[in-house]
Amino acid sequence: MTREKNVLVTGGAGYIGSHTIVQLVENGFNPIIADDFRNSDISVLKGLEQITGRKIVHYDLDVCNYIELKSIFKNHSIAGVIHFAADKAVGESVSNPLKYYKNNIGGLVNVLELCSEFEIENFVFSSSCTVYGEPKEEKEVSESTPLSKANSPYGNTKLVGEQILLDLHNSGARMNILSLRYFNPIGAHPSGLIGELPVGKPNNLLPYVTQTAIGKQNELTVFGKDYPTPDGTCIRDYIHVCDLAEAHVKAILLLQQKESNFIDQVNIGTGKGTSVLEIINSFERLTGEKLNWKFGPRREGDVVEIYANVSKSFELLNWKCKYTFEDAIEHAWSWEKNLAQHA
Ligand code: UDP
Repeated sequence: MTREKNVLVTGGAGYIGSHTIVQLVENGFNPIIADDFRNSDISVLKGLEQITGRKIVHYDLDVCNYIELKSIFKNHSIAGVIHFAADKAVGESVSNPLKYYKNNIGGLVNVLELCSEFEIENFVFSSSCTVYGEPKEEKEVSESTPLSKANSPYGNTKLVGEQILLDLHNSGARMNILSLRYFNPIGAHPSGLIGELPVGKPNNLLPYVTQTAIGKQNELTVFGKDYPTPDGTCIRDYIHVCDLAEAHVKAILLLQQKESNFIDQVNIGTGKGTSVLEIINSFERLTGEKLNWKFGPRREGDVVEIYANVSKSFELLNWKCKYTFEDAIEHAWSWEKNLAQHA
């Protein structure tokens, strides 16, 4: 396998990471996973093998461990790094901020140091629409929308992460860098073999919906009903995880064409906003399941409404979503049912 095809994927066993592995293989790349399975399950490797028809090289390690991580760079000639490995629970980050700064910032710095040492040319960073905070007037945010003060340590790690990359770029680093600002990934691989595997109670909406429908959770609480939106519930831009995963392949392909010392940031969403009640109604309509849900108080720190302006992703990456919102709900439900069958 040539060097141009080896891509190190930190956090490659996680939800977005695992779907990205599939897309990389389908596009002729040779992904190498670095993941300590703290927030994923080793069984994902079997799912990946079934989907791709090959074994995926993986290293069970914490990206904060410089020595262990270095062994990967020594063992493989790497063309690019996609850095997912990070903790992601907003609430936990408020109660345990140091964990988030250590893992998300410390891990990023570790990976970047090794990238510099081994002259890695291409780097893709998992950022988030959380960097925009609560949009002031226009709910559709573009990359030129001003960034906002983070409302959680988790959100801050994404802001600081992007700033670290800008500082590295400004220092003249011979590295091409792209930050992907994700909106809300949902769904699962259409095969039903990989999907989201929340540890403990899900924090995100769609896994909570599917777990309630399957009986793992008793009841879904809708956080707030009096927001200034058409139906009173919050609005997000929900994107099929396979589309989001494909954007990473496009990102690597773009960076490989650039001269050294390129940096940019790009939104990865669908461009469409959907409310919590619309999610619930669509789920019930598409699956025929009746969901047990009630209204509860607002969740602290929730953004009211945000969705992506997707012009730049189309122009820069030549990428567009292939899956519909309905596909995403149906795939998430197939995955939940598969999990229940094999439990
Ligand atoms: N949400 C909800 N009940 C839940 C989980 C989420 O009503 O059990 C709402 C949440 O308040 C927000 C939307 O669903 O309006 C999406 O939340 P999620 O945590 O999935 O994404 P984020 O808020 O990080 O964009």
